[in-house]
Amino acid sequence: MFSYRHAFHAGNHADVLKHTVLLAVLRHLALKDTALTVFDTHAGAGLYRLDGDYAQTSAEAADGFIKLTTSTLKEPLAPILQDYMDMVAGFNAKGQWKVYPGSPFIIQRLLQGRDKLKLFELHPTDSKTLSANIAQLEVGRQVAILREDGFEGVKKFLPPPARRALLLCDPSYEIKNDYARVPAMVADSLQRFATGTYVVWYPIIPRPEAHDLPKKLKTLANKAGKSWLNTTLTVKSSKLLQDKDGETVRPGLPSSGMFLINPPHTLKAALQLALPQMVALLKQDQHATFSLESGG
Ligand code: SAM
Repeated sequence: MFSYRHAFHAGNHADVLKHTVLLAVLRHLALKDTALTVFDTHAGAGLYRLDGDYAQTSAEAADGFIKLTTSTLKEPLAPILQDYMDMVAGFNAKGQWKVYPGSPFIIQRLLQGRDKLKLFELHPTDSKTLSANIAQLEVGRQVAILREDGFEGVKKFLPPPARRALLLCDPSYEIKNDYARVPAMVADSLQRFATGTYVVWYPIIPRPEAHDLPKKLKTLANKAGKSWLNTTLTVKSSKLLQDKDGETVRPGLPSSGMFLINPPHTLKAALQLALPQMVALLKQDQHATFSLESGG
């Protein structure tokens, strides 16, 4: 079974990028008056305690989301970054940062009565926690939790009844095969439902298959004649480090990206304002940077 538990990483710099983009996309989709189906193929536990054992083990939120709560910038936060901050604040008592919402809860907050949310989570413990967390919302059948493989499970729901969908694909990539399964799932989904909005998170690490993933997605989108957007956030160098005993240590995740197919037309301009601020607030060394490109 998997060893990855998102609780260790909740609120880190990758979550800041992922959840800011996710929220901005949802806001845009919520503007239209037609039922939306949202798929979260790798949902996690849904809610995380920042003062819990897991989060404290690595304290990744301290170098991530928490940095935004004490912004040192002269200018106000960019609208989508402020929106993200307000969303997280909505799960916490004023001035306290104890709870971090994962993608299922961020999505659920934006749902309207007509919309549906399908959450896939394969890990038995996380799936149980997710079910318990969602049960507290008392939202009935609007939110479905499926303890299934998200890559496969989503197929039976496409195309969605009202022909509007957002799919978030956020694997942990601890299984090497995930790098191949992501583009395969996106290609299959595009064939089933070409006008959906597809959002993929990916790590930027020195592995050929990680390097190739955004390239594959770009080729896929271009071949399908679909618009796309690719954005990355780097907070530090990816160079290997040496500890005091001279042992080589990995620096932790330095960089991640979001690849979107059929993104909202407003997203690029919104990110142009937000990304430099994310770099300024989350940078850990002089290698911190961002990229933003689009096509199709
Ligand atoms: N999307 C979540 C968020 O933003 O809050 C975080 C998800 S975490 C990065 C990835 C999750 O996928 C883990 O909880 C893991 O147990 C789960 N998982 C791994 N492989 C899966 C699969 N094939 N289908 C469904 N869930 C899977």
